[in-house]
Amino acid sequence: MANKTTKNPAEIFSELNLQNQILLPSDGEYQERQESFWSLYSKVEPACIVRPTTTNEVSAIVKTLVASGQKFAVRSGGHTQWAGANNIQDGVTIDLQFLNWTKFDEKTRNVDIGPGARWKDVYTELEKHGRVVAGGRNGKVGVGGLLLGGGKTFFTGSRGLACDDIISFEVVLADGSIVTADATNSQKDLFMALKGGSGNFGIVTNFKMQTFVCEKIWGGFRILSKEHISDALQALEDFTPHVPEEVDSNILLFIAYMGKLKDVVVIEALVQVGAVENAPAYNKMISIPAVMDMCKMTTVRELVSEYDPVPNGYYNCFYTLTIKNDVRIFNKAADLHHQVVGDLKALIPKGNFLTECLFQPFSKCIGKRSAERGGNIMGISAQPEDGVLWVAIIVIKTAEQEKVAYPMLQKWGESVRDFASSIENGLLPWVYMNYADKSQQPLASYGAENVKKMKDVAAKYDPEEIFQKLCPGGFKISDLTL
Ligand SMILES: Cc1cc2nc3c(=O)[nH]c(=O)nc-3n(C[C@H](O)[C@H](O)[C@H](O)COP(=O)(O)OP(=O)(O)OC[C@H]3O[C@@H](n4cnc5c(N)ncnc54)[C@H](O)[C@@H]3O)c2cc1C
Repeated sequence: MANKTTKNPAEIFSELNLQNQILLPSDGEYQERQESFWSLYSKVEPACIVRPTTTNEVSAIVKTLVASGQKFAVRSGGHTQWAGANNIQDGVTIDLQFLNWTKFDEKTRNVDIGPGARWKDVYTELEKHGRVVAGGRNGKVGVGGLLLGGGKTFFTGSRGLACDDIISFEVVLADGSIVTADATNSQKDLFMALKGGSGNFGIVTNFKMQTFVCEKIWGGFRILSKEHISDALQALEDFTPHVPEEVDSNILLFIAYMGKLKDVVVIEALVQVGAVENAPAYNKMISIPAVMDMCKMTTVRELVSEYDPVPNGYYNCFYTLTIKNDVRIFNKAADLHHQVVGDLKALIPKGNFLTECLFQPFSKCIGKRSAERGGNIMGISAQPEDGVLWVAIIVIKTAEQEKVAYPMLQKWGESVRDFASSIENGLLPWVYMNYADKSQQPLASYGAENVKKMKDVAAKYDPEEIFQKLCPGGFKISDLTL
């Protein structure tokens, strides 16, 4: 259905002198930008794409859109997997592609990062200065969405989430004004709300972040055969309580069906940011025999450039929960994964699909680290138990397959949720926005007090609800009742 507009979307910008920065469906570059979304779900068709190069242009674009009553979407890296989060049918998509700088300040050792930058470019620039930031673990992912949703990083055990390392946000508000919100100035409420509150308050045009030294890390993938699923899940349960004393040792444990192998494998992604080879924390993981072991001394930049499990151009269905660190729940998720793979094989006999049943320790200490660094709006410091972030993923190629696979994924996710709920403290409150499906409510999971704070901030900085109604994409605070 077409959006209600006063003029043709591209014509409203005629006075802004944006020339080549506006793309129409007839332009080749428009198609290229559409192709560059990570998920096929994102490829709804905007009437035009506008690509600002400066914060002032973002401001002028917002003023024009608001004056015209034109619906719009905001895109940074374009990695959100579900339809309408970062692109808008028949509306205007503000593509922050050109706001992609990484500017390191030798004096303060802070870095200014544009929302349209990709993590690979950020690490490449900082490596020249012997520094890193706590950012994304896949080089192609965008800066804007990851930081505004929280950001799970290789440094989460010691530093909290990526957003906890932000010093200030430059933001274009709904009336076009430009503010810089930090922890102490008069926009400190906005600063706090942006640390997990996503696109509910304005368009962020610069993130100032702390950097630190991390010259070498040790890590990579160990691939195990599927016979070792239960050993690997037990090793994960044993690992999680040690996160507080082994803050530099990260694990992502995948049980995955790989279309290329036509089989299920276990993948241990081990990343030790203190550059300790075979750290004691990994003893149980490493004692399980691997079919292939790619762990080595490397750098953050190298590792994030190599790690790219799912390329662009697929329907990616996600569902996430935070569960108690309890192997009974892990086994349930894995058993259901086995059934899902069987059902998908029946649907797609050639076997060219991908699944992931992904576990990442989310110790109670992460919330404490966040709180020590000033806190965020996500309520994670209230987590009652050591937890594990769990993500169920199905990746398929065609719309017909998607019609069957999406409900299958929902059922898998809901069954794990119900099973976890049947165990005391088995289901933890936090739903991580950056992995959540559109059917989930990550903002509500932050807790009533934080929802109220976000509503207050939205009402103060955007009283006409431009970022709720005119920019409807993403998870919206106005969808929640108190
Ligand atoms: C392969 C892969 C690897 C990943 N790895 C990690 C990881 O290591 N850690 C982790 O925490 N997450 C990870 N994620 C999840 C990732 O954080 C989210 O997909 C995130 O939304 C990506 O950011 P983006 O800028 O690419 O997204 P986009 O889809 O462009 O944006 C996400 C949302 O934020 C809004 N938004 C974006 N920029 C702005 C802005 N400047 N101002 C206001 N609103 C804005 C958009 O409108 C949209 O609703 C990964 C995802 C993928 C696909």
